[in-house]
Parts: sequence; C-alpha cells; structure tokens
Amino acid sequence: MKGRSVGEQRYFQQGEIVGVLPAGALDRVLDYKAPEGGCRLGAFVEVPLGPRKIVGVVWKEGAGTWDPAKVRSIKRVLEATPMQPNMRSFLTRAAEYTLTPMSAMLRLATRAPGLGDTPAMRKIYRLGANVPDRLTPTRERVLQVLKDYPSLSFSLKEVADMAGVTPSVVKGLAKMGAVVEADAPRDTAYPKLDPSYAGKTLSPDQDAGARQLRSAVAAGRYGTTLLKGVTGSGKTEVYLEAVAECLAQGRQALVLLPEIALTSEFLTRVEARFGARPAEWHSGVTMAERRRAWKMVGEGGAQLVVGARSALFLPFQNLGLIVVDEEHDTSYKQEDGVLYNARDMAVLRASISAAHVVLATATPSLESWVNAEQGKYAKLELKSRFGPAVMPQMRAVDMRDQDLPSDRWISPALADAVRSRIEKSEQSLLFINRRGYAPITLCRACGHQIGCDDCDARMVEHRFLKRLVCHQCGETKPMPAVCPSCEAEDKLAPVGPGVERLTEEAEALFEGARVVTLSSDHFGSARAMKEQIESIAAGDADVIIGTQLVAKGHNFPKLTLVGVIDADLGLQGSDLRAAERTFQLMRQVAGRAGRAEVAGTALLQTYQPDHPVIRSILSGDEDGFWAAEAAEREAAGVPPYGRMAGIILSSENVQEIFDLGAAMARNDGPLRQVGATVYGPAPAPIARIRGRHRVRMLVKADKTAPLQAALSRWTAQFKIPNSVRLAIDIDPQSFF
Ligand code: ADP
Ligand code: ZN
Repeated sequence: MKGRSVGEQRYFQQGEIVGVLPAGALDRVLDYKAPEGGCRLGAFVEVPLGPRKIVGVVWKEGAGTWDPAKVRSIKRVLEATPMQPNMRSFLTRAAEYTLTPMSAMLRLATRAPGLGDTPAMRKIYRLGANVPDRLTPTRERVLQVLKDYPSLSFSLKEVADMAGVTPSVVKGLAKMGAVVEADAPRDTAYPKLDPSYAGKTLSPDQDAGARQLRSAVAAGRYGTTLLKGVTGSGKTEVYLEAVAECLAQGRQALVLLPEIALTSEFLTRVEARFGARPAEWHSGVTMAERRRAWKMVGEGGAQLVVGARSALFLPFQNLGLIVVDEEHDTSYKQEDGVLYNARDMAVLRASISAAHVVLATATPSLESWVNAEQGKYAKLELKSRFGPAVMPQMRAVDMRDQDLPSDRWISPALADAVRSRIEKSEQSLLFINRRGYAPITLCRACGHQIGCDDCDARMVEHRFLKRLVCHQCGETKPMPAVCPSCEAEDKLAPVGPGVERLTEEAEALFEGARVVTLSSDHFGSARAMKEQIESIAAGDADVIIGTQLVAKGHNFPKLTLVGVIDADLGLQGSDLRAAERTFQLMRQVAGRAGRAEVAGTALLQTYQPDHPVIRSILSGDEDGFWAAEAAEREAAGVPPYGRMAGIILSSENVQEIFDLGAAMARNDGPLRQVGATVYGPAPAPIARIRGRHRVRMLVKADKTAPLQAALSRWTAQFKIPNSVRLAIDIDPQSFF
C-alpha cells in the first residue's frame, strides 16, 4: 500500500516486560512477559488473568513495577496483524470522550468471532454426500441450513445455532457422513475492486460534487463534507466517486449504512460500479464471514467495507474515507453498553487517520447543519432529482374536516387518492410509525391497560406474532382470555392503530387490492425482508403499509403516493429533538414517492396543519426550518450550542437510587467548577425497565467547558454500590 501505511512496530524479545490491555476485563494495563518468539507492540495476544485466559493487546512497554519473577508470560500471540498506533489513539480518545473504560472500548475492537480460538478449533461444516432418507426433524433442520447457504462456511456453533439444535446433533450427522467436517481454510482476500470499472455519466451538478469529493480524498488530509441532496438526487453515485478515488490512492474505504436491509441493494450497486463485491460487516453476516472481514481489513485484503456502526472499530490499516449514509439516522447512536454516536466517532477516527468523511443525507441532523454553516464542514448540495423525477408535492389533510369513525384512520381524502393510484396501476404507501396491531389493550369493564410486568410500559398487541410484546424489554406473553385486573371475559379491546391494524383497514377499504405490510416484526430473516422489498419494487403490491423501515432509502419506482397516517405523532412529548425528528422523518417518507417518471404526491394527515413544523414540512422551506430550530436551541443553550450529558442510575431498589442521585446533585462542586449545572434527580420517562427502577439527571454546560473531565471528578466522589448501575450518556439523543 502506498502513502500512509505504517512501518513495523517495536519488537519485544522473549522475556521482556510488556504492558497488556485486556479486552472487557480489568480496566488496567497489566505487566506480562513477552512469549517465546517475542511479540510486537500492538500484537493481539492471549494472557492468563487469574484462572481465565483472555484476549488483550500489547499496549505499551511494561511498567516493571512487579517482581519480574512473579510476572506471568503471554500465552500466545494471535494470528492477526498488530494494532496500529492510530487505532490505539482512536480507542483512547473515544474512551475519553464517551467516558468508557478502556477495556470496554478495546472489546469493541476485538469483536472478531473466533479471534481467540486455537487453530484446532477452526473446523468448518458442510453438506456431505451420505444423506439418509429418513431424518429426525432436528437433523433435517441442520441439513436445511447447509442447503440454504451452500457457499458459506459454518463453525459448529454457528450451524447449531442457526438450526436451533445442540452441537451434538451436528456431530452425529458428521459421523454418518451427512455432514462433512473439514479444516477451515485460511481466510482469503476479497476480490479486487476496480475504481475505473464502470462509472456512470454524471449530470453537471453531480459531476461538480464528485470532483470536489475526489480532490478532498486525494488531499490525504482529514476533512468532513456534508453531502446534502434531495432523495433521488444521486448522492450515492456521487460518493461512490469518492470511494473510487480512495481506492485509486491505494487506501481503504468504509461506508456505514443505518439499516441492514439496505445493504443488499447497495452491494449490488458497488458491484456494478467496481466489478466486485466488498466486505460486509453487520449482525446479518455469518461469523466465518465476519472473521474473514476483520482479518482482511487488518491485512489490507479488503479495500472497501460496507457495514453497520460497529465497523468503525475494525482494524483498518490505511483508512482514507468514511461515508456515513443517512447521517441523521438515530440508529447511529448506540443506546446500549458503550454509548457512542457512530457519526461523531467516524469524524474522530478520520481525524486521527488523515481520512476524509462524507456525511450524506437529504435531511441533515441539526449538529451537522450547524457545523456546515460555521464552516467546520465543507458543504455540497444536490438540489434536484436525477433525470425526469421531480420532488413530490406535499399537502396536508386537515383531519378536523374529515368524517371518520374513531376506529378508522384512513381519511376519505386519502382513501380516494389511493383508489385513483390503484386504477392507474401505481403504488401507494401508507406510513405509520407504530409496530404491532394496537398500542394499547384496554379492559372495557374496569379500564385496566395491560402493562409489562417488568417495565413501566404498556404491552403492545402483535397479531402477526399472536402475542403481546413489550417494546422496552422484548418480553412477550399470550393475549389473556380475561382481564388480568377484574377478570371480566371478552372485554379486552385494542385502542389506537398500529401497522397491522392499518393493514386490516386497508384490506377492507381497497377490496381486491394487493396490500403488503413492511414492518421489521414480520420477517424472520434479513433475507426474507430483502425478498419482500424486491418483490414490491418489481410491482407486486398495490398498497404498502409500512413503519419507519420504509423511510430508509428503498427505491420503489412505481410508488407515486405517500400517505402519512399521523403526522402529529412525533410532535408530542418533550424531547429536545421532537421537531427535528418529525421534520426529517416526514421528508424522508415523502421522498419515497415519484422516484421514476411519474410525479409523486405526499399527503400528511394532521390535526394541527398550522403547527410551525408541519408548515415548514409542507412549504419545503428547509433552511428556514433549520435556522429557526437552531435559534431555539441556541437560546436554550442546548446542543449543538451547549453540551449535555444524561446520567441514568438504575437499581431494583428505588430508594437507593433516589438517595444516591440526591447526594450526587448536592455534591456538584467539580461540575460547578467548570460552570456546569445538574438537573434532577427525577424519575426517568420510562421509570422501570426489566425490573430496574431508573432515575435521571441531566448535566448542562457551555460548549467550551471540559465536561468529561469534570464528570469523571464528580462521579469519582461517590461509592457506587454493586446493586446500582450508573450510565453516562454524552450528547444524549433521546431521554427515555
Ligand atoms: P440518493 O442516494 O440521492 O437517494 P441515488 O444515488 O440512489 O440517489 O440515485 C437515485 C437513482 O437515480 C438511482 O437509481 C441511481 O442509479 C440513478 N442515478 C442517479 N444519478 C445517475 C446518473 N448520473 N446516471 C444514471 N443513473 C443515475
Ligand atoms: Zn418490559
């Protein structure tokens, strides 16, 4: 590789003392002796820790403060390219920013399935020749999995998990020859991508944009560009040119997508553009493929990775470009475990690796919009759709004028519009951002609403799954026959619409039409969802009923009408970002209409057509909206103009966390020193999840305040009991 590829790192002789950072264990660099054959700085190693063996990285020279006779030896050096200095800085800075222990941060960077396996464990399982005629159902399932994915290699655990059987079932099949056990081949490099394989002829706008991005990438310095363009303007085509330049420079590129369901369409486009498929990294890829991706990224055998947010922690050798597609998408914020925002971490990683970042979106996050306005990011705008497609017309349906029974949600005006599309063999999309059948199940005798046993949340009826589901903890139970509170029979009734109920209504209203539901609950696998999306794109549906899932980037050429069932839904609640989210979501959903020759229309059902957010959505005055929103946030001193951190204390004992919270709020000296203020403690909006009570505090500070350092000093004053969990969320996206 040309350019910034890094030379060999320092080598330690056998017996020299090195400092190893263990992944996910003790949060300290520990001294070990270099093993037989020595090791390099950055090497991935296996070390003994108490009775356990764990994976770690040779982080620095040993401290040498221990009696050398007592220092244990590294067990072995794992088969992986040593971690580069810029990756170590990235993890260190990311840990400081998110207030995450280093060992937890390192765990994100060592999530290679089988990284710690001994070579002997690397067996793979394939379909054998000796398949008997009669098989038990469990054995049948194993063979079916292997038949479904003939080109993939599976480990024992993987094939057993996918078939839902114990490993012994697979072993049994191996014994009779129905399954073949073989040594895993060495992971192979991905096919070469050719940057000049088949570029499209770009429109003048697109071409100017592509040139700007190409020269930014060629400069080989850090920089960020906000690529803003209406849906269908060709943002993807334009940033693929930046990828081409990066590949031509001999550097690696990463494209982050917010939704696994989008990857397959994107991979096809990459193949058309560069002649081969890139590496993939997300939860929908097999472990063997993930291990291959991780290894090859480290060795330089993968030029381009398409992945989910965790791909940021892959061991790139020479990263030249990160694209964050749909950068405003809230799923980039990891809300579990290590709380990080992949968009911000992409910028951090790029700044350390002298890489360029492209943030692509039709509706930027306010943060990115402000950064571009202030000149921190370069800005690139595509104002019109590619080819004959034009932006859809947006209109409100004032629900106060519509005659509609209380258990119906499709207004006569919207229904007429759908019928006229059906007559012309065009598609309509009805959007509702609620999974399941009905959000509330109410007892008509006593007024009881069925809630989750472990959370402060209602159970949502899912008829497709035939269960009640808690959207907080995922717990499910069957619909009870009698009211759990008053035991009345036949009195439980659904209240309010979910996507499934809307499907029922649409089927009744549009007799004979093909109505299809697109909601994440309805698919057992990413593959099933992909097939459904492809069949809709091919025209095998008249009316599509969809949740948030449909808002993201799919291309349905025959879709000319979008109906938003409840445009007011996101405007309720006190969330700082409610207006921003509604604006983005409505524009994204509306953008699904009219992507080909026929112009599209978007109808927004609303009870408040004069609400400022609804007005700016309809008028399309985007800059006006962002400017107003920015002014409001600036006046309130909230992000991106001020800094915020959310503190959540949780415990099974509610008193304990209120007491601790109150003590923390009283002893706020370290925060006051930097001019920060604590609000709370107060019960969190969802006051109980999975049986744990939750108390929230909010810390606000000026933009320039050294907030993280102050938070560390502040929390260090308190002894947190083992029964309490303390989570700190820097730049919280939501306040649940
Ligand atoms: P966006 O990412 O902005 O939504 P896309 O890049 O997906 O837009 O482009 C929308 C559609 O238009 C795609 O089907 C794409 O292949 C097509 N398209 C865009 N630009 C061109 C071009 N210059 N030549 C041919 N097709 C194009
Ligand atoms: Zn629950």
